[in-house]
Amino acid sequence: MRTSIATVCLSGGLVQKMYAAAEAGFDGIEIFEPDLVAAPQSPEEIRALADRLGLSLDLYQPFRDAEGVDEEAFADVLHRAEAKFRLMRRLGIDLMLVCSNVGTATLDDDEVSAGQLRRLGELAAAYDIRLAYEALAWGRFVDDYRRSWRIVELADHPNVGVCLDSFHILSRGHDPKQIEEIPAEKIFFLQLADAPALSMDVLSWSRHHRLFPGEGSFDLPAFLAHVQRAGYAGPLSLEVFNDTFRQTDPVRTARQAQRSLRWLADRTADLLGDEAGPLPRLPEVAAPEAFDFVEIKAPETSGVEVLLEQLGFDFGGRHRSKQVRLWTWGEVRIVCNDQGGSPAAPRIAAVGFDVADSEPAAERAAALMAPPVHRRTYAGEQALRAFSSPDGTEVFCSHAEDWIGEFDGGVAGTSTERGSARIDHVNLVQPWHSFDEAVLFYTSVLSLTPQPTQEVAGPSGLVRSQVMSSPAGGVRLPLNLLPTGQLAGDEQAHAQHVALACQDIVGVVAAARERGLRPLKVPGNYYDDLVARFRLSEDFVATLRELDLLYDRDADGEYLHCYTETVGEVFFELVERRERYDGFGAGNAPVRLVSQAG
Ligand code: MG
Ligand code: MG
Repeated sequence: MRTSIATVCLSGGLVQKMYAAAEAGFDGIEIFEPDLVAAPQSPEEIRALADRLGLSLDLYQPFRDAEGVDEEAFADVLHRAEAKFRLMRRLGIDLMLVCSNVGTATLDDDEVSAGQLRRLGELAAAYDIRLAYEALAWGRFVDDYRRSWRIVELADHPNVGVCLDSFHILSRGHDPKQIEEIPAEKIFFLQLADAPALSMDVLSWSRHHRLFPGEGSFDLPAFLAHVQRAGYAGPLSLEVFNDTFRQTDPVRTARQAQRSLRWLADRTADLLGDEAGPLPRLPEVAAPEAFDFVEIKAPETSGVEVLLEQLGFDFGGRHRSKQVRLWTWGEVRIVCNDQGGSPAAPRIAAVGFDVADSEPAAERAAALMAPPVHRRTYAGEQALRAFSSPDGTEVFCSHAEDWIGEFDGGVAGTSTERGSARIDHVNLVQPWHSFDEAVLFYTSVLSLTPQPTQEVAGPSGLVRSQVMSSPAGGVRLPLNLLPTGQLAGDEQAHAQHVALACQDIVGVVAAARERGLRPLKVPGNYYDDLVARFRLSEDFVATLRELDLLYDRDADGEYLHCYTETVGEVFFELVERRERYDGFGAGNAPVRLVSQAG
C-alpha cells in the first residue's frame, strides 16, 4: 500500500509540509497549486527536496473549469493547461487533477466535455502527462462520478482517466458500488476524506469540515472496498480541507493522517477477507469491555482521597516502591499518584482499559504510532505498556490481577454493605485542536465506536460531546470539546470526571452524606421542571430534591445521578442505571455546568 497526502491537509509552508509528510511515513504527496505558488523555492528545488525526503510527487492539483465550454473559452483552457504541463515537467509530476467545471461551463453535453478532455489529453500526452478527471459534488453540470466516468469513457484517450474522491461521492449520497464497474487502469487516482454528518451546503461542508478517515460519519471501509474490488493499485491519498488542521502542528497532523490510513486499510481488509490483496493488517484486538483503573495525579493532601472515603471507597494499600495509593469499591480501582509532591491541580492522568490480551493491544497501538509512555518499574513489578492519547492522558492496556499485588497494607477484602460498583464512564475534556484526533485514536487503537455527537449549553459556550463506547457498553468514554473562548472564571469547564455506577444510589448518597459528602447543589427550579416533564410521585421527587439527585428517563429506562464537588480538575459522578437506559442524562448537563461554574 502506498500512502500519499495533499499538501492542503497540513499547516505551514510547502517545505514544512513536505518534511511533516515524510516524517509521518508518507510515500508521496499531492502538490496543491497555491502551496507551490506561494513557495519561495523553484520547482526544481521542490523536486530535489522531495527526492531527498524519499517522497514521490504523485499529483498536481487542481486544474479548474476545463470542459463544457465553447470553442473560444477552450482555446484559453489549452493555453492555461500547456503552461501547467511545462511546470509539471519541471517538478517531475506526470499526473494532473482536472475538476469538473464549476464556473465557466455553458454546455451540458457529455460529447462536448469528452471531446475537450480528449484534446486536453492529446496535449498532455506530448508532455508525458496524464489527466485524472474528478466530478466535484458542486460541479455545474458534472457532479456525479458515474457521469465523469461516462465522459472519460467517451473521451477514450489513454492519458485521460478518473479521480475518485470519497467526499464528492459520499456527501451526495451516491452509491459507491458502481466504482467496481470502472476498469482499474482508468482509475488514475484516489482521494480519501471523511466528514461529520452535517446538513449544510456541500461546498462549505467540503472546504471546512473534511476529516481524516475514522473521524467522521462516512463508511470509508465500505467505500475503499469497492475501489479495491475494481482493482485500483495506486496510492491511497488523503485530501482533507479542515479549519482545525490548517492551524495545528503539521508533524502531528501528518502522523494523525497516516494513522487514519493504517486503520482504514485494516478495516477494509477485514471487509475484503481473501480479496484484501496488499492492504496491511494491524494486530487484531477486541474492544475492552471494562475499565481496569483510573489514575489521578493528586498530592495526598489534595482532598481527592477525602472524597473517595466519603463515597465509601476502601483504602487498598500503598504501592511497594512508588508514592501511589490504591482505593477500591467493588470493581472500581482508583489509583492516586503523588506526582512527586508537585503542587499541580489534581487531574486524571491515566486510564487503564481491561483488554483481553494486552500484548497485541500494545503492538496495535505501536503500529498506529501511538506515542509510548515510559514509566519506571522495579524488579518483580509488572511493566505495563502505556500510550499517550492526544490530550496527554495516558492509556494503559492492563489487568488488575497483574499489578494489584504490588500494593500492601490495604483493607483485606472489600466491604459489601454498599453493594457492588463499577466505573460507568470516564469523561475526558478535549482541547479544540485534538478533538478529532482523539476520536480517531480511540477508534483505531482501542476499537471503540463513536456514537452520535451531542451539544450541551454551558454557561461559557456550547460543549460538544462525543461518546466512544465498546460494543456491549462496558466501556463508555465521553469526550467533551470545550468551547474555544473560555470565559474567565469558568475554570470548572476544564474539569474531568469519573462516573461510578452503583445499585442503590439513594442509599449510597444518604450514607455518603453522613460521612460528610456534599454533593453538587441542584437548584429548586430543576425539581419544579422535573415534575412538569415526567409524571413522578411527590415522595420520589422529594427524595431526589433532598439528596440533590438528577433524573432522566427515556424509552429504555431511567437514570439517577449526582456529582461531587470538584477538586482541582476532577470530580466524581454517582450513577444508577435502571433497566437498559444507555444515555448520560444530557438534558441535565446544563444544570450541572451552571452549578459548577457557581
Ligand atoms: Mg478531490
Ligand atoms: Mg457523566
